[in-house]
Amino acid sequence: MLGAMQEWDLVMSHAIDHAAREHGDREIVTLWSDRSETRTDWRGIHHDAKRLAEALRAMGIQKGERVATLAMNHAHHLSSFYGITGMGGVVHTLNPRLFADQLAYIVNHAESRVLFYDVAFKPLVDAMKEHWKTVDHYVCFDNGEYTDLLDQHDGTSEWTKLDERDPLLLCYTSGTTGDPKGVLYNHRGNMLHSMASLQTSSFGFEPRSVMLPVVPMFHANGWGIPWAAPMGGAKLAFSTIYEPDVLLDFMHREKVTQSAGVPTVWLGLFQYMEATGKSLPDTLDMAVIGGAAAPRAMVEKLMEMGCEVGHAWGMTETSPIGTVGMVPAEWEDMSFDERAARKTMQGKPLFGTEIRLVDLDDHSTELPRDGETSGALQIRGAWVVKRYFKQDEDCVNEDNWFDTGDVGVIHPHGTLELTDRTKDLIKSGGEWISSVELENAAVGHPAVAEAAAFAIPDLKWDERPMLALVLKDGKSCDQAEMQEFLKDKVAKWWIPERIVVLDEIPHTATGKISKKDLRATYSD
Ligand code: ADP
Repeated sequence: MLGAMQEWDLVMSHAIDHAAREHGDREIVTLWSDRSETRTDWRGIHHDAKRLAEALRAMGIQKGERVATLAMNHAHHLSSFYGITGMGGVVHTLNPRLFADQLAYIVNHAESRVLFYDVAFKPLVDAMKEHWKTVDHYVCFDNGEYTDLLDQHDGTSEWTKLDERDPLLLCYTSGTTGDPKGVLYNHRGNMLHSMASLQTSSFGFEPRSVMLPVVPMFHANGWGIPWAAPMGGAKLAFSTIYEPDVLLDFMHREKVTQSAGVPTVWLGLFQYMEATGKSLPDTLDMAVIGGAAAPRAMVEKLMEMGCEVGHAWGMTETSPIGTVGMVPAEWEDMSFDERAARKTMQGKPLFGTEIRLVDLDDHSTELPRDGETSGALQIRGAWVVKRYFKQDEDCVNEDNWFDTGDVGVIHPHGTLELTDRTKDLIKSGGEWISSVELENAAVGHPAVAEAAAFAIPDLKWDERPMLALVLKDGKSCDQAEMQEFLKDKVAKWWIPERIVVLDEIPHTATGKISKKDLRATYSD
């Protein structure tokens, strides 16, 4: 016997239908690259999405086919997410910062049929066209082509009938080794991911929320924000400009309550605020930081400003939210230091996924949650990858555990604390050094804006840590001073013999420190 409740497939068109019906006039604001602003609302996004679905059907796009986007965050990009997926297509987000050969590989591998792009990326699109074999329609989002296309349709038809396991969005990981790998999300997993992220410890979207996602929609499913915001009735403030002065001003004007970005973005904002004496808007009560470890100094600064910090860990393979830093029951009794320490950790899984640590060598023996035993992090659950796109084999073990490539400890209170990525660990004289801990210690120095620790080969110790620093404007710190500073913060044998000060640390296409580049530069 089955229960006697209604079938209501977990398909994402429900989210946009709900937003249009219940939160129809909550705004979607876009700040364009020429600094002009446009305003629409969830009703407008819904109407555009309906019309786009009709336009794609008219182009002959079939259910399951991929439709690519090469764009920053804006209202048209948002409506395309719902238009494409509402007619059964699969959104394929492209990261414009990738190298040309990766972009060629990814689009051909995905066999995307249509490509929507920002006019700012037109030179890139023109250069890539001859390499992209499967794209037969190019539509520019922001030069009038997109709206002209929509204007040919009235948006009165129904969404395509879908199964909740149908594919939704395809996102490739940057692939530090080998070819990029595609993660193919489905409606169901994404719906559960979005609903879980409505918790206040995550994005906590409500009809009073104003979210400014600094994380681009092409980075790991836009952290799920384009899908969860309409469920909660949040207003979205999109900026296609990332300069700190513009972002901060926009945050103030739109009375932003939540924002989300990689540490580099927050770092840029802090540097700008320090230099100008400006501050975050009082309205901002949640800063979500993820994609790379949030340095403790950053967490503390946000806390001092009265802003809740949601330090989140995840990856493209996990839709992407894996864990978030929740406020524990004993929060009120903790000192500021204890709170900051807890918030600098990566938090706990939202309901819907499970994590565990396993032995670094055999990748199967489960390790205790004692806050000391460090192991390889594995995850499984409703929104975790099972098999990469077009691969013949699953990328999980027989119990669905996915190996994340991350290393850390889980504390007895259940909080995950990452110490490194398997490939960034530094093994010196047979002992492991956490590059992340070393970096966290270094950025505690008042002159340091950013730090990167990485392994360089060493005849005696096999590997030694090296530290690259970027200093704050007008500040100074040299090798000897940093070595002295680190003395009471890390084990003596962790202190690097080589410390360099750079104008800029190389970053990857998703804004993370590129240790691969640093290792390559300094390995001799
Ligand atoms: P890409 O490298 O292409 O950006 P992902 O966004 O999927 O790919 O990167 C996921 C990885 O980023 C994780 O496996 C982890 O190493 C790192 N990461 C993400 N969030 C955090 C965090 N809060 N703390 C430490 N590392 C993080």
